[in-house]
Amino acid sequence: MSLLDDRALPRQPAWTPPGETVRDVTDHLRLQEAHAAPNYAPLPVVVAEAEGAWVTDVAGQRYLDCLSAYSAVNFGHRNERIMAAARAQLERVTLISRAFGHDRFGPFCAELAELIGKQMVLPMNTGAEAVESAIKVARKWGYQVKGVPDGRATIVVAGGNFHGRTTTIISFSDDPAARAGFGPYTPGFRAVPFGDADALAEAIDDNTVAVLMEPVQGEAGVILPPPGYLARVRELCSLANVLFIADEVQSGLARTGRTLACEHFGVDADMYLLGKALSGGVLPASAVVADREILGVLRPGEHGSTFGGNPLACAVGRAVIELLRTGEYQRRASELGEHLAGELRDLIGHGVRRVRCIGLWAGVDIDDRLGTGRQVCERLLGRGVLAKDTHGSTIRLAPPLVVTRAELSWAVDALRMVLAELALRAD
Ligand SMILES: *Cc1c(COP(=O)(O)O)cnc(C)c1O
Repeated sequence: MSLLDDRALPRQPAWTPPGETVRDVTDHLRLQEAHAAPNYAPLPVVVAEAEGAWVTDVAGQRYLDCLSAYSAVNFGHRNERIMAAARAQLERVTLISRAFGHDRFGPFCAELAELIGKQMVLPMNTGAEAVESAIKVARKWGYQVKGVPDGRATIVVAGGNFHGRTTTIISFSDDPAARAGFGPYTPGFRAVPFGDADALAEAIDDNTVAVLMEPVQGEAGVILPPPGYLARVRELCSLANVLFIADEVQSGLARTGRTLACEHFGVDADMYLLGKALSGGVLPASAVVADREILGVLRPGEHGSTFGGNPLACAVGRAVIELLRTGEYQRRASELGEHLAGELRDLIGHGVRRVRCIGLWAGVDIDDRLGTGRQVCERLLGRGVLAKDTHGSTIRLAPPLVVTRAELSWAVDALRMVLAELALRAD
């Protein structure tokens, strides 16, 4: 029996809370459209349940999740170990202010620092907050340690970046959709093309406190750095006494086959930004990880977050760290990624122009004569595969790391059929 047959078997309709109206997909879409701010254009699917690599919609239809909430669900939906840790913590304590201590906090910080190979952890909720926190820390470090004149610090970033959605972060985005109409913008940033080390060398001056980059640009379409580039970035930062901040919110924590994507390129950043997968897919949890000489510039009262480092997030985070320590997920990402890359490369010339892969993470450039990435994703949905387009004609594949080889092959088959359909239509 093929996976598709299995998927098509009638399922128990999703559970509805007692007293709640049973709504079908159309009802849900209508509610969303009428009452949810239209900052997303979701595909017409309404998920009610999930397990492992699969989700089930309100009609009982199953889909293979090939996005994993942008890697936040690396360990699979409702991973057993993570759920056990969350449940146990729900029965104990879920929130206490950082004005007090709690018994999950110290161990979480110590274990995460050890996993990343640094001394200290600054916890917060979302990835954007991790970026904001790193910017503040780098500026403070610049004034206090490097001796940059007050208010003059600059941070160099890469073109095509994605670091989140706050007003400061979109100030150094070059994506018009992310930026336009949201000014005035925060000054203090300089952008250089990703991959151009000479441009970076040019952009760094005495007031530069940090270089902030994604080692692999996720949102841009899984863009890998050219050979030797990150080593040059590291070298330039060291020479100029500038902090190298690696935003590994999406690339980190096993997605690429290593704990950190930076490991592939033989570089160690000064500050790592983690998020997404650190949450175990349960609740927002992010962190800045660095040595004491950097994070130690923060004094009590200068920075904080009500929910950052809360007991539930720390308990879940510790379960995530435990999974990462086994190396099993990193190994799966490498092996499955190789399989996926091989299958995707077979589609080049058959509706696919280019494929970029690292670990279980692929950017697939669709031949734009066939249609848009969005159209491909809509048709994939019809075949039971959830995927997300980015920048017009690219689709990004990042299934949970618990997916099987057979499931990956099945998803690529679905893509092959979608491309064939679109090719017929385009003729
Ligand atoms: C998703 C992402 C962020 C922002 O994380 P949020 O939790 O959505 O705020 C930052 N940096 C990178 C590289 C990301 O992929």
